[in-house]
Amino acid sequence: MKAPPSHGSPGNRNVDLDPDRFYVCQRCTACCKWPGDVRIEEDEIARIAGFLNLTEVAFMERYTRLRGNRQGLSLIEKANHECIMLEGNSCLIHPVKPEQCRGFPNKWNFPGWRQVCEAVPIPMAEATDRGLV
Ligand code: SF4
Ligand code: SF4
Repeated sequence: MKAPPSHGSPGNRNVDLDPDRFYVCQRCTACCKWPGDVRIEEDEIARIAGFLNLTEVAFMERYTRLRGNRQGLSLIEKANHECIMLEGNSCLIHPVKPEQCRGFPNKWNFPGWRQVCEAVPIPMAEATDRGLV
């Protein structure tokens, strides 16, 4: 999932979290189409490269670039700003997608995120029962 600068990032502090609600992703793919970095942390490189049957070097050369702040790697985006890993409505690396993607909108978000995300709220207790948390 992509985090445009105007929407903040997993590192921001301006999040709107409700401890009693969990938002279930509807895979609308909006967050895979926003311009901006999809952060890849160092410990995620080997896992994603392995999933794609690539060496770490080949994965980094083919699919990553420096982040806007030049302090780490991001997935490349296509000319239309979609993430390079988005194919149709599917994420090519879904089982090993980056924490940034896993965390939105329940671990990080930004003011106004409900206007651009179709995730459906359910009680946190139900999310826990269903193993979603
Ligand atoms: S890695 Fe997958 S989930 Fe994350 S932005 Fe790219 S397509 Fe979306
Ligand atoms: S429902 Fe929200 S979290 Fe899920 S793909 Fe759409 S924008 Fe992303």
